[in-house]
Order: sequence, then C-alpha cells, then structure tokens
Amino acid sequence: MFDGLTGKLGDVFERLKRRGALSESDVQAAMREVRVALLEADVALPVVKDFIAQATERAIGKEVLRSVTPGQMVVKIVHDTLVEMLGSEPEPVDLNAPAPVPILMVGLQGSGKTTTTGKLARRLTQRDKKKVLMASLDVYRPAAQEQLRILGEQTGVATLPVVKGEQPVSIAKRAMTVGRLQGYDVVMLDTAGRLHIDEALMAEVAAIRETVDPHEVLLVVDAMTGQDAVNVARTFKERVGVTGIVMTRVDGDARGGAALSMRGVTGCPIKLMGVGEKMDALEDFHPQRIAGRILG
Ligand code: GDP
Repeated sequence: MFDGLTGKLGDVFERLKRRGALSESDVQAAMREVRVALLEADVALPVVKDFIAQATERAIGKEVLRSVTPGQMVVKIVHDTLVEMLGSEPEPVDLNAPAPVPILMVGLQGSGKTTTTGKLARRLTQRDKKKVLMASLDVYRPAAQEQLRILGEQTGVATLPVVKGEQPVSIAKRAMTVGRLQGYDVVMLDTAGRLHIDEALMAEVAAIRETVDPHEVLLVVDAMTGQDAVNVARTFKERVGVTGIVMTRVDGDARGGAALSMRGVTGCPIKLMGVGEKMDALEDFHPQRIAGRILG
C-alpha cells in the first residue's frame, strides 16, 4: 500500500545521504520534496503541514547540521516524526472490564465490518482463549444475520440466535443478558451499516451505545476510500464516540493516505488492520513497523 511513497521518499533520502554537509536550505528543499510525496500519497493537508513543520524544526537544529552524517540524522528525524504521526505505540483492543465485555462494531456498509467482527472474534477465541458471543444487529439487510452465523460456524464462535422482527436495541440487550447468564467473556455487537452517513444510522448507533455502554467502539473503515475514510471516522468520532479504528483492505493498492492521516485528524488510534478476506487476515497496527515499511 505504501509503495509509491516509499519510492519517492527513498529518492529524497538517497540524495540527502550522499551529501557530506547540509545547509539549512538543503534541509528545507528536502522537506519540500517530502511534503509533495506525502500529498501525492493522499495524506490530509493539515497533517502534512504539521508533519513538515515538526520535522523541519528538528532537522535544522544545530547538532544535526554540524553532525558527521547530517543526511542520516535528517532521515532518522523523518522516521521518528512519522512514528509519532501514526500514534507511537501499538494500542491493542482493550478487554480490561468486567465480563462480558461489550465491543461495538460500527461503520459504513461494505467497509468490512462483519468480516472484521468474525476475524476479531476468532482471534479472541483462539489466541486469547476468550469465550466470545457475536450478535448481528443488522435487521435491514436480510442476509446480514445469516452472514454472521455462517462466519461463526466457520470460526467456531457462538452467535446469538436470531429472533424474527426484533429491533437492534433489543437484540443488543438480549446479547448482553445471554452473555452474562452463559458466562461469556466478550460480546461482539455487529451493527448495521449504511452506504453513507445519515441521521438514522447515527441515532441508531447512539441508542445502542447508550443501552450497552460498550467498552470498545471499533470503527471499521476501508483504506481504499482514502480521505473519505478519514471523514467518516471524524464524523463517527464526533457523533457516537469511537475508541479505536480498524482499517480494512490494507492489502489493496490504496495510496496509504488514510492510514497516515487517521490519527492526526481524528485523534483515534488505529488498533487493527485487515489484510485480506480470509479469517486469519487481521494484524495489529504497529506504528514503528509501518514507519519502517514506508521508509524501506
Ligand atoms: P460490511 O458490509 O461492512 O459488513 O462488509 P463485509 O464484512 O460484508 O465485507 C465486504 C467485502 O469486503 C467482503 O467481500 C469481504 O471479504 C471484503 N473484505 C473485508 N475485509 C477485507 C480486507 O481486509 N481485505 C480484503 N481484500 N477484503 C476484505
């Protein structure tokens, strides 16, 4: 996903490292090229501005320009600034609450919400040895509840039996009751998506949120939608509150701008990323590793 950016930054850094000494204007010229590379990768403008301002300020510090290898120091500064932009430390899904821990999955239709619900439930079950119950609150798309049931069967995770005609808030309440009575550690609630953000969607998610008081609200966004994904995240954050973001289709050929802007624009950590359609294609989001991957 970051190939284009990696290539462009690599060229800038090669030239920097080859120079023996650097002047302030050399650094500023290099930063202009970094700025163009970030914008071409579709990173949000305010995030690019912040990034360049911070990196430039650090890079024209006297110790850097006077050091034996100023080019390498500048490259390191760009790396460190990139890690900070991505959130510095990995932020895992937090289960530190009384069982059953409610996790609410939200996002637009087609973002990969149901798939991610299955992937995360599978991981919590198999890797973390948690007893997980999944429930679909999508009463609008006839196939949605069935899709989750099939995923549950494939992954060995329990799903809440469907009661015809039951509304989302009631399903959420029932899932929590079953979770409590049957000794589940985690209850994952897969909400309905819409093609676009609309009032009805926000009101519904807010009502579910009030009912179950989820410990995590994970917003699933599609990396392929670029800056739209960032705008969706900002709106969900403001309207319903989001504790973490899952970015899907990171295996696709998106330019990477969404991943790079997300933290800066929304203040929300990216916790997980989807890297394929299969149930094991889910990874933690590690700012250090991602920065390493981008800078080659
Ligand atoms: P929902 O409407 O948000 O619940 O979306 P779905 O979970 O039904 O996913 C929509 C499509 O995206 C399905 O075909 C999934 O297999 C696919 N998908 C989900 N996550 C990923 C991912 O990380 N990578 C790829 N390549 N496809 C994904």
